[in-house]
Amino acid sequence: YSTSAGIENPINPSIKVHCTQLLINGNFVDSASGKTFPTYDPRTGDVIAHVAEGDAEDIDRAVCAARKAFDEGPWPKMTAYERSKVLFRFSDLLDKHIEELATLETWDNGKPYEQSAKIELPMISRIIRYYAGWADKIHGLTIPADGPHLVQTIHEPIGVAGQIIPWNFPLLMFAWKVGPALACGCTIVLKSAEQTPLSALYAAKLLHEAGLPPGVLNVVSGFGPTAGAALASHMDVDKLAFTGSSETGKIVLELASKSNLKPVILELGGKSPFIVCKDADVDKAVELAHFALFFNQGQCCSAGSRTYVHEDVHDEFIEKAKARALKRSVGDPFKAGVEQGPQIDSEQFEKILRYIRSGIESGATLITGGDRLGSKGFYIQPTVFTNVKEDMLIAQDEIFGPVQSILKFRDMDEVIRRANSTRYGLAAGVFTNDLDTANTLSRALKVGTVWINCYDVFDAAIPFGGYKMSGQGREKGVHCLSNYLQVKAIVAPLKNP
Ligand code: ADP
Repeated sequence: YSTSAGIENPINPSIKVHCTQLLINGNFVDSASGKTFPTYDPRTGDVIAHVAEGDAEDIDRAVCAARKAFDEGPWPKMTAYERSKVLFRFSDLLDKHIEELATLETWDNGKPYEQSAKIELPMISRIIRYYAGWADKIHGLTIPADGPHLVQTIHEPIGVAGQIIPWNFPLLMFAWKVGPALACGCTIVLKSAEQTPLSALYAAKLLHEAGLPPGVLNVVSGFGPTAGAALASHMDVDKLAFTGSSETGKIVLELASKSNLKPVILELGGKSPFIVCKDADVDKAVELAHFALFFNQGQCCSAGSRTYVHEDVHDEFIEKAKARALKRSVGDPFKAGVEQGPQIDSEQFEKILRYIRSGIESGATLITGGDRLGSKGFYIQPTVFTNVKEDMLIAQDEIFGPVQSILKFRDMDEVIRRANSTRYGLAAGVFTNDLDTANTLSRALKVGTVWINCYDVFDAAIPFGGYKMSGQGREKGVHCLSNYLQVKAIVAPLKNP
């Protein structure tokens, strides 16, 4: 590999940024235009590194490499067991390089280092192992059709997958996308988010060290309207997988259909209810609701961003929710014990502050937070609003920041109606010890995941995806394999005429 000389991490100088070019056909290369763009440290707003900026021409080069690796092999032609072994070796390398990967992730994204190293990296190698295990267990059926025919189905890789990922969980999204596609025998062009290009390049390098043949995974850093749009509309891409906002989801779906009708899987935004029922242990409910919203600086598509609290426990809940938010430790994400780092960039930072102002103007009660923290970087105070109503913008839009909105409710039918009164349908949390309540709510909520007395449990085997404008299709688990497979029916007479 030709990689750059290396830029030292200020906290841990032994860790450097080495990979800043595009990864095309197994080589790190400059972009065709020679252009680069800066990626920033959200702790300070300073530039970390300049990264090659891919656009339509680079996407085309990457798709050509992926096409060749798919059509001529070796990837889809290798035995499934060989492919599985590459993925297992990759997951071992991920475990071995936790420190470098977690440092890059925190440096580029701002999330707490302990979260990167102890929660996310283990989830990432786990999901790769999960799909490594599937690679040699994908098979079709023999079908007892009417008539004297032998009918089989075989499951073939769909081809070249275009994958566009966001910045909130750069490596985890890389793993959710790359793991199943490779297990199925697809080849890939992945476009990382422009805010966080570093960890995907490093992980892709490790995947090549694990034995991935050139051209099977190509990684293009770059911007959405240029590189992203070129990938979504490329005529030689057979499948598109996108995670990001619902607004951009609409754009890529349109680009996909206007070009070659490639099928698309979309993981989009959310405005998930977290429902605290009247029988709840308030201390535990406060803690879980706090985690559901504030985890990852509030930058989760699944964030429990509408906290519905039953009137019987409401007043106690809001006092304790305020105390918990005030106790939240916000600061340099590389420091031990820090729960919340900076937001990703100035754009998101300003957007969140605008939503906070809109909450105040629309009559919600700000009980804590509401402003930036410090004068450098993109830190925001953990913020809690009460007296929130569904017609307020802060209850409708995805804020993607550390802003908790608490809404009071009285009875079950009412909370079901209100929780469902959103264009989103990604997830929901239910906090209760009552079995009937848990059963009723989990069936009535129009969402892809209901977490009962837990939240953000993202096991590799559990399918994840949205109802309504939160997306189409499912990722993780066995359900994700179908995204990357074609089912072919083969029919022959039992006896030739
Ligand atoms: P956010 O607003 O949180 O950055 P986006 O949905 O815009 O979320 O971004 C998610 C991913 O989609 C990123 O990789 C981004 O570059 C990409 N993207 C943004 N705009 C487009 C577009 N017009 N076409 C294709 N991809 C896009």
